[in-house]
Amino acid sequence: MKLYNTISRRVEEFVPYEAGKVKMYTCGPTVYNFAHIGNLRTYLMEDVLEKYLRYAGFDVTRVMNITDIGHLSDDADSGEDKMLLGAKREHKTVLELAKFYTDAFFADCEKLNIKRPDAVQPATGCVEDFIRVISVLMEKGFAYTAGGNVYFDTSKLKQYHVFFNFKEDDLEVGVREGVEEDENKRNKNDFVLWFTKSKFEDQALKWDSPWGVGYPGWHIECSCIAMKYLGEHVDIHCGGIDNVFPHHTNEIAQSEAYLGHEWCKYWFHVLHLNTAKGKMSKSSGGFLTLSKLQEEGKTPMEYRFFCLGSHYRNSLVYSEDTFENAANAYRKLKSRALALTEDGEVDAEGFARYKKMFTDALDADLNTSLAVTCIYDVLKAKDLNGSTKRALLADFDRVLSLDLLKPEEEKAKEGGLSDAKIEEMIAARAEAKKAKNYAEADRIRAELLEQGIVLTDTPAGTTFNRK
Ligand code: AMP
Ligand code: ZN
Repeated sequence: MKLYNTISRRVEEFVPYEAGKVKMYTCGPTVYNFAHIGNLRTYLMEDVLEKYLRYAGFDVTRVMNITDIGHLSDDADSGEDKMLLGAKREHKTVLELAKFYTDAFFADCEKLNIKRPDAVQPATGCVEDFIRVISVLMEKGFAYTAGGNVYFDTSKLKQYHVFFNFKEDDLEVGVREGVEEDENKRNKNDFVLWFTKSKFEDQALKWDSPWGVGYPGWHIECSCIAMKYLGEHVDIHCGGIDNVFPHHTNEIAQSEAYLGHEWCKYWFHVLHLNTAKGKMSKSSGGFLTLSKLQEEGKTPMEYRFFCLGSHYRNSLVYSEDTFENAANAYRKLKSRALALTEDGEVDAEGFARYKKMFTDALDADLNTSLAVTCIYDVLKAKDLNGSTKRALLADFDRVLSLDLLKPEEEKAKEGGLSDAKIEEMIAARAEAKKAKNYAEADRIRAELLEQGIVLTDTPAGTTFNRK
């Protein structure tokens, strides 16, 4: 298989460190809000990569962290902890917030047929590992304390910017205006490994450490969690393109300083989902969630199909029109697939021929849109019987997970909630909106949706329907 490697900026033949095995690491969500459909695009494309590697016969182990501490509102070391901001907003503890949004994230993944990684590790469960690795970095002279915090010293590396050739425009992070200079840093690119001098009196979660009571920086968590589960060599490290700098750059710096050798060979980055107004982001608000799409009558499988129709290394623009085109195409495709009948033996030679087209598409840097074209080719093939077509679509779905042969699920059963209870929840949601607590309002709507209750806001108030 050939994959684009962000480090070399080339499409390369994928050769894992250990023959037949793939160690894969995914930067997981920061669980202070619902995932938006842009975040989900990244996880969806990573899911296709994982499934294709398994399909191709590799023994894959995939690990994901859950960021529940240390990710500041700026990706560098400035701003407030995103989790703390979320907890204040929703009058919850940080851990309650993390649990709620972690569950919501995996519920979205399940709807989208995104497989759960083999290991999912919240950062707060690994603080001892972070302290151990930071201690070694101190011993080796790669870290220093200043102003109460522990910093990584980038001047001690032979090379810092491994993604240096990457143009700022490609990173889509823009110039970081308004980032406060941290006077403790010896070099501009140094970054915090451990905060002890919290800027925030009410920092909720703190741990004892050799450098004082504090909490870890964001980057150290991924290096440590990857090493804990995957050992000293990672084959593929994944994330959205905005993770390239500073997050992945800093992960490489500290991991290789700690290990003394190359850490991860292939870097897989998914370009962003944008709207006509620009990048979809959690912090800027106004983003679309999967639940919102569902309320508008769209389905998770239509969204999956929409994503697979474009290459992961292209930005994808979400609009009503582009989505509707994909959704219509998906519905037609599915009805054609469901109309296929078993009409004899599977033709082994025909099966192999079309399978080869499918693997050729995905071998070429995960060309999912070409893989989807293979589905159309199978459906219209004159040289294949119905049984062979069905077998091929089922085989392709081991990777694409589009449920093309799965009969429409029965409409969701009547929700178990009484009308009175639903009205009570609608009233609580209205109160939350009045108090500008939109996250709570969203949460209530999502909870009702889980039970098959769809809310519609009208000028005269909110009405509900049972799906
Ligand atoms: P976060 O929860 O903010 O840490 O982000 C989770 C994942 O989504 C990361 O891999 C991000 O790089 C990725 N991501 C963030 N915004 C977008 C977007 N608009 N489109 C695609 N992926 C994104
Ligand atoms: Zn990460």
